[in-house]
Amino acid sequence: MTHARRAVLQALVAARAHVTAEDLLNIVQIDSPEIHLSTVYRTLDALENLGVVDHVHLGHGRAVYHLTDNAHQHIVCEKCSAVEEVPSKLFLQLEKELMDNYQFKVRMNHFAVIGTCRKCLAKLEESRDS
Ligand SMILES: [Zn+2]
Ligand SMILES: [Zn+2]
Ligand SMILES: [Zn+2]
Repeated sequence: MTHARRAVLQALVAARAHVTAEDLLNIVQIDSPEIHLSTVYRTLDALENLGVVDHVHLGHGRAVYHLTDNAHQHIVCEKCSAVEEVPSKLFLQLEKELMDNYQFKVRMNHFAVIGTCRKCLAKLEESRDS
């Protein structure tokens, strides 16, 4: 494993969350200031090809990266930007019907599902009541 690859993986594990390539660069550069953003992107590509890392688009912003150790899907609140992870199996029925009826193999986890979170729903309820 190359130095850059190990540094990026360690940064991903340390971050324990969904981070952009720029976030990873900031972590990596604490110990390895010689590593540049282009190297981080190249390394992330290589790790994705190995199936160790995956990226997801959470909204209008940049793609974020995470380890592929547990299959999950992301739900994102468009009001407060909160991100929650939910099990991929919630979407099995949708995946099956798209395949059966449209011969379309969907890759649900490439993009987040956008909506309104429970906190923001509660706030909406409150403002409606008052
Ligand atoms: Zn993508
Ligand atoms: Zn994730
Ligand atoms: Zn919210």
